[in-house]
Amino acid sequence: MNPYLNEEYGNPSSLYSLGQNARRALDQARNKCATVLGSRASEIVFTSGGTESDNSAIMGVAFAQKTTGMHIVTTAIEHHAVLHTAQLLESLGYEITYVEPDKKGLISAKSIVDVIREDTILVSVMLANNEIGTVQPIKQISDMLRQKAMEINHPIYFHTDAVQAPGALSISVDDLGVDLLSLSAHKFHGPKGVGLLYLRRGTPFVPTQAGGAQERERRAGTENVAGIVAMSVALEEAESSRLENSSKCIALRNKLFASLSERIDGVHINGDLHQRLPNNVNVSFEGIESEPLLMALDLNGIYASSGSACSAGSLEPSHVLRAMKFPDVRSRASLRLSLSSKTTEDELEQVINVLAEQVSRIRELM
Ligand code: PLP
Repeated sequence: MNPYLNEEYGNPSSLYSLGQNARRALDQARNKCATVLGSRASEIVFTSGGTESDNSAIMGVAFAQKTTGMHIVTTAIEHHAVLHTAQLLESLGYEITYVEPDKKGLISAKSIVDVIREDTILVSVMLANNEIGTVQPIKQISDMLRQKAMEINHPIYFHTDAVQAPGALSISVDDLGVDLLSLSAHKFHGPKGVGLLYLRRGTPFVPTQAGGAQERERRAGTENVAGIVAMSVALEEAESSRLENSSKCIALRNKLFASLSERIDGVHINGDLHQRLPNNVNVSFEGIESEPLLMALDLNGIYASSGSACSAGSLEPSHVLRAMKFPDVRSRASLRLSLSSKTTEDELEQVINVLAEQVSRIRELM
């Protein structure tokens, strides 16, 4: 990022050479991201992160396709960036169907296509859930949607929030069969406040951010050049080390699950054990509330979250665990730990020891 914050600080829309250097950096970053996604560079729209990508994907297609239909299908376990956008569209007269997951947090392709109607214009299903890590069958949904679109005689555009996927799952847009895909750099060791939206050529789209002609008139506003350059490098690295890092994380994650079940009574794993992100651990401990546990972990240098980090601070039980029909006591007792390829066996051991100690201490207190 440094050169683009200090020496090469030009505005990529300017014609002078400093600006053109920034333009070239932007072009290179776009090519790098497109290579990882298996897309054309022109199909990449740089944004301020996952929230903006989700908002503009859903509203962009909804507004553009309004005369074809006003029905949208999504799931009850999406990130709030999707759910709150869906609610906003409801207030504008759109109808939204929220498909429920099963008890393991999985969404079946059949449950999606079963609710498609003549006026369905868009489907949005996340690739991997940020709280419980479950991975949804995006390719299968895409294949079934294509058939359904032929029956209703107009396209059904397909968006996936893939914010949690880089470095863990393939994000090849053709393999996934999606028209729109959202990413956020800080989820793959890039900086915060930058992301991208993949927008397949030919997808009808009304920009939700009005102003200049940047990003081929799909997202107005001067681009965050340093952030975008950093994101493209981080994305390349996440992809090139994906298989190696995933297998390392899976081994650590399985060890963590096994040790927790061995050392602590009344531990429940939330979300499917196998169809799951390699780095996601989400468990509930019977007889405790997660808040005091989070504080105790923090004092021991362990940074965890209950429910989703984005809704931390609110005591509402996680909407994801609720949608899985867990009683509120189990949702309130949930703890999410995220691993990375940099997590060591020693750190894991430390976490297990602290958890065993603190869970029994809190149980006694409660
Ligand atoms: N979608 C998912 C699945 C996420 O996990 C997040 C952030 O946690 C977002 C969207 C929002 O991304 P951002 O914080 O970059 O706006």
